[in-house]
Amino acid sequence: MFTEAIQNYLQRHDYKSFYPKAVFFDMDGVLIDSMKNHSRAWMQAMKESNLPFTEEDAYMHEGCIGATTINDTFMKHLNREATEEEQKQIYSAKSRIFESLEPIEKMPFAYELLKKLKSEEMKIYVVTGSGQPKLIDSLNTLFPEIFTKETMITGFDVKEGKPSPEPYLLALKRSGFQPWETIVVENAPMGILSASKAGLFTLVVNTGPFDDDFLYSYGADLVLDSMEHLYNEWDNFRKSWI
Ligand code: MG
Repeated sequence: MFTEAIQNYLQRHDYKSFYPKAVFFDMDGVLIDSMKNHSRAWMQAMKESNLPFTEEDAYMHEGCIGATTINDTFMKHLNREATEEEQKQIYSAKSRIFESLEPIEKMPFAYELLKKLKSEEMKIYVVTGSGQPKLIDSLNTLFPEIFTKETMITGFDVKEGKPSPEPYLLALKRSGFQPWETIVVENAPMGILSASKAGLFTLVVNTGPFDDDFLYSYGADLVLDSMEHLYNEWDNFRKSWI
């Protein structure tokens, strides 16, 4: 399973070797179990502005910065982009609702995997479209001694955000690694598109509502069931690096 995925990846990008030294983690739906709350908060905030927005819309925009989610919804229903004022208003409503919901938990086996990677001296980054300071702060509470300011790329660091390759290209630049020296762990279509366009090996943990084939169609190199699955298979994956 791993050997085939790596061979296909090398062939597709015309790279010679795959020997990762860094792992770039998406945050929502990968490290933290936050997608149900994001989805509820987006639906409620859009409703307050009389904009139709479904759970599927929320998952299809997972990973995007707030402005993209809001502009796409305006284009779809009002045939225009949102003004800066409208963007601000809806995003702050979404953040307010999000923070009123039950606290976010770690994704099962996320911390175990992070600690294992740290013990193997892998560099660990988080690459998220989120611009909610409390949520970003929660990473340090949930995963002590894993991330620093330098290793966190958030919605505040980028202009376009996912699905543009921009955030993952920034992670490459900050870390100083080549694409074939890194792995991305993603879960959502727009994040997969972003990582795959940046030329990175995109390992997907399917924690959302889509089927595996749908996620492959966005450029996933390999789809696993969960973070637990990845944790259990990590040593086998590592043995396949060339
Ligand atoms: Mg995600």
